[in-house]
Parts: sequence; structure tokens; C-alpha cells
Amino acid sequence: MKKGIFIPSNRTNTEKTLNGLSFNSGAPKLGFVLLLLLYIASFVAVVRTSISAGSSMLFGQAIPYHSLTGAFSSFGSLCIIFLAVFYGKTGYFLSLALILTQFPMILTGMFAQQSFTNIAGFFTNLLTLLAIILLRANMSKVEKYQTRLRNQAVTDQLTGLPNRFACSELMGDLVRRNEKFVIAVLNLNNFKNINSTMGEGTGNALLVEIAARWRDIADRGVSGTLDFVTRQGGDEFALIIRNCDSDENIRKTLTYYEAALRNKLTVEGCDYFLTASIGYAVFPADGGSSDVLLARAYSALAEAKRANAGDSIHRFRDDLPTAEHALETERRIRSALEENRLFFHLQPQYDISHRLRGFEALARIKNPDGSLLSPGEFIPVAEKAGLIDKIDYTVFRDAAGFLGKLIRQTHTDVTLSVNVSVKYLMKNDFLKEVQGILDTCGVPPSQLEVEITESVMIDSVEKALQCIGELKKMGLRIAIDDFGTGYSSLSYLNSFPADTLKVDKAFIDKMNTGEASRQYVAAIISIGHLMGFDVISEGVEEQSQLDTLREIGCDYIQGYVWGRPMPPEAAEELLAAPTH
Ligand code: C2E
Ligand code: CA
Ligand code: CA
Repeated sequence: MKKGIFIPSNRTNTEKTLNGLSFNSGAPKLGFVLLLLLYIASFVAVVRTSISAGSSMLFGQAIPYHSLTGAFSSFGSLCIIFLAVFYGKTGYFLSLALILTQFPMILTGMFAQQSFTNIAGFFTNLLTLLAIILLRANMSKVEKYQTRLRNQAVTDQLTGLPNRFACSELMGDLVRRNEKFVIAVLNLNNFKNINSTMGEGTGNALLVEIAARWRDIADRGVSGTLDFVTRQGGDEFALIIRNCDSDENIRKTLTYYEAALRNKLTVEGCDYFLTASIGYAVFPADGGSSDVLLARAYSALAEAKRANAGDSIHRFRDDLPTAEHALETERRIRSALEENRLFFHLQPQYDISHRLRGFEALARIKNPDGSLLSPGEFIPVAEKAGLIDKIDYTVFRDAAGFLGKLIRQTHTDVTLSVNVSVKYLMKNDFLKEVQGILDTCGVPPSQLEVEITESVMIDSVEKALQCIGELKKMGLRIAIDDFGTGYSSLSYLNSFPADTLKVDKAFIDKMNTGEASRQYVAAIISIGHLMGFDVISEGVEEQSQLDTLREIGCDYIQGYVWGRPMPPEAAEELLAAPTH
């Protein structure tokens, strides 16, 4: 039988679901029936033996049946005590009823037959009654304590939502019961920025408010499906959806949760507008176990994040990179590093009148079969696996060495841009390694530019700024990469000692689709100039984009329209050509 040990009144959907989780169920039902039957059998035996004058031979001795009455009676009491101890309130009240009905029978027997031989039975029952009352009182205390512990075990302390453990318990239950469900993971976009700029207190208050909104939707069942929201940790939530029959249904429900964020969130007088990315997987279509389903929902979430401004809800697809895929990629990176299969290509950068400014070094990995692994795939894996510093260092060292050789041959003054991930920048040995490269490559520092994504301004301002200051002191140039994709504020930008701003390809792609998009790029370029930066537009593919960029005053261009990434030998030829 199920013991409603979490919350006594089963009011909301969430509470109902928590109460129904299998780890709440008590002793097996079969035991309850068995104890009751044993009790009835021992009761019949007590009645039969007490009035029997017969006897039976055992080990050569005649044993009178009535001498067994006491043993049967004690056995019956034991059954009653077990019922009261293991079967909660139902067991307790049943055993009370059973024991209390015995008293009139014993008393009537004693008075009707004017025989007080059963006085022992009377006291046995009285003691049993006392025992079950005391045991029950004690059990109630233990159960209350257990309830509190279990509540804590399944509740997220900050938001009061069920937690990650409750989520995996429910998924396990549904998989065992073979019931169709959806597991969706919801992650707030750019929440890290709020924590780092407004403080953790504000971040927590926002999480509490969002949790309350989402729990309200789940509890009232307004989405039309049976939902269960949990907090997985940080700014990550999970949603288990039941009673949904079509993909359309699922999307409708998820849109409800997404829309709940559209109303502004106000904390300490400040308004916040947050959005979420959502990835989901369906049981049994997308996976047969909770672990696989959750991992697949996370892959879909990563895809939703990658889609950025596009669709924020994604379902798992077979061709998405999965955790296994990431492991395979990690293995390939490691072996490439060991076997020197990491190399670089150079993509030319031009000024707006098509004069060569320099090259950006881009990492490449060759698989043993000769095929190339794309940086879009291996860079994020390398960052997670702690291998990015080796990649960045190797590309930096080799590309700088290559340019050094060209300078000795041709005295070229072109710039070499290298990508430095925030993880590498924060590494203790970073500055020492850069100094080592400078000492050996033979390139003047002014011809070297370090590209750092603007996420550095959000993640780790202090230490990053210090390192960047040191790079500047060494004489290197600094470029802010992928500008516009993060949420860095103007005040950060102002204090950032950069020389170059690289406008992300996403803005260039959209630039010619409408006046507003064009104005937006024009505004970024103006701000860049106001702060004294050179501006490079990335991912320029078409002549029409070039024309627009020329009109709005962009300084430099990097894109397929004038040059794709190429092997160093091709870059050398390009440099040797009379007009680059
Ligand atoms: P990124 O730093 O923004 O580099 C520019 C990327 O855009 C390159 O992709 C380049 O090939 C591509 N691209 C340039 N022009 C065009 C264009 O006109 N159209 C299109 N469709 N694409 C264009 P790639 O080489 O695949 O690199 C992808 C990203 O990987 C880079 O983006 C950078 O974030 C990262 N990456 C590459 N090499 C390194 C490295 O050595 N270290 C680190 N930390 N990251 C690297
Ligand atoms: Ca770059
Ligand atoms: Ca870029």
C-alpha cells in the first residue's frame, strides 16, 4: 500500500506525482493479506483448542489440545503487532479493531461459563493492545522524521521545486511502467551574465520567481498535459510531460513554459527579460532508458543553444552530436595532438580597398584517413575536455614561426591573428608561453594580434583584463572576436584595451535583409570607431555585402568573397603575388 508520506493532502499535480513515486511505497500488499489470514487461522485454532478435551501423542507424551491455546493466541498477537507496525494507519486501525473485538468475546466467555481460566488470555490481549498503541506512537514520530528527510532528498532547497533526484525517479518509474512521456531540459539564456553583473542574490531571486511560475503551470494543468517540473541545478530545469499524444501537443506545452518568461521579472526594482532554450526527447521513440533520454534531451538543448536566435525548442535527432560522439571527438583530438596531426590554415584579411592586412590562423585536424575534422566540432569539445590550451598554443607557435620565416625572406609587415580561448588565457603558464613564442619566432609583437571572444568580459573580467594588459605591454594587438553574440555592456567595452573589433558573421548575414539590420551593423562600426578600434567584418560572402560595408565605413573584410582559409604555402604565394 502507498503511504502518503510527503504531503498529507494530495492537492496539486506536483504533490500527487511525488506521492506516487515508487520509493514511497511501503511493505508489499501480499504480506498484509498473509498476516490477516494467519491471524484468522490462529484465532480459529485458539477457539477450537480451548474447548477441546482431546489430546495428541507427541514424542510418546499425550499433549492435551487446550495446552496449545496459549501458543496460538501469542502467534495471533504477533500477527496483529506486525500489521500495526508495517502497514501504516490502515494496519494500525485494523489491528485495533481485531484486538478490541476479542475483549467482549473473552469477557462473555468468562462470565457465561463462570470460569476464569482464560484470565491469562485477557491480560495477553491487554498487553498486545498496549504494545500496538505504544509502537504506533513511536512509528508516527519515525515516519514524520522520514517524511522530512525524504522531502529534503527530493526538494531543491532554493526554489522548493522537486530536484534532479525526483526527476530521475519519476523517469525510472515511467520507463518501468512503459508509459509514454517527454523529458525536456530548459536552460535560461545568458543567465551567467546576470549572476556576474547583478550578483548571486539577484540571480537566485530570479530562479525562485521562474520556478514559481513554472510550478504554477504544472500544478494547475493549464497546458493540457500532465507536467512535472524539477530543478536540475544552476539555471537548468527539467520537465516531464505525460498524457501527450502528438509532437504538436508537446510543442504547445513547451511553448506555455517558454511564454511564462515573456512577462518581465522584477527583482529589487529592476526588470529582467529572460528567455530559455529547450531540448527534449520522447520515450520510447528517442531512447529506452532514463539516462539515454536525458543525455539526448541535453544534446537537443545544445542544438537549441547553437541555433541562437532561431527556434528555441528542439527535439532530439539521430544526427545530433551526442555524448558518445563527443567522446569519440575527444579521442581524435588527443591522438592528433600526440601524432602531430594538428596544423593551421590561414584566412586573409583585407582592407576595404582590397589590400592585404594579414591572416587569421585557424586550427585544423587531419584524421588518420586523411579527412579533416571541422573546428566547429572539435573546438567546443577541446574546451570542455581541457585540451584547448594545447591547441591554441600549438597553432600560435607554428603560425608565428611560419610568419617569422616569411618576414626573414620578404620583410612583410602583415599581421597574424591567432585565436586564444578564455580557458587558455586564464591558464597560469599563458603569459610565459606567449613570451617563449615571441622569443623564438622572430615576429615583431606589433604584427601579432590575439583574438579573444567577448565572452571573456562576462566570465572572468578581473583576471582576464590583467592578462590582456600584460599582452599589450608585450606589444601585441588585441581583437575582440565574434562581437555582438554575447551580452557585454558598453562600459566593459570601454575599459577593454582592444585594438580591433570583429563583427560576427551572423550580423553580416542579416545585414542586407532590411534597413534596421543595416543600421545595426553601421551602429556597431560607429561605436567601434568611437572607442578607437579598427573594425573587421567577418564572413563576408557577397559583393552586395562588400558594397554596404564600404558605404557604412567598415575598415577591414574577412570572408569567402575575397579569400577562404588556405594552407600556409598558398598564403605564401598570395603574399608573393604582385597585387595581393
Ligand atoms: P572564428 O574565429 O570566428 O573564425 C572564423 C570562421 O569563419 C572560420 O571557420 C572561417 O573559416 C569561417 N569563415 C570565414 N569567412 C567565411 C565566410 O565568408 N563564410 C562562411 N560560411 N564562413 C567563413 P573555422 O575555421 O571553421 O573556425 C570556426 C571557429 O573555430 C572559429 O571561428 C574559432 O572560434 C574556432 N577556432 C578555429 N581555430 C581555433 C584555434 O586555434 N583556437 C581557438 N580557440 N579557436 C579556434
Ligand atoms: Ca577568430
Ligand atoms: Ca569570429
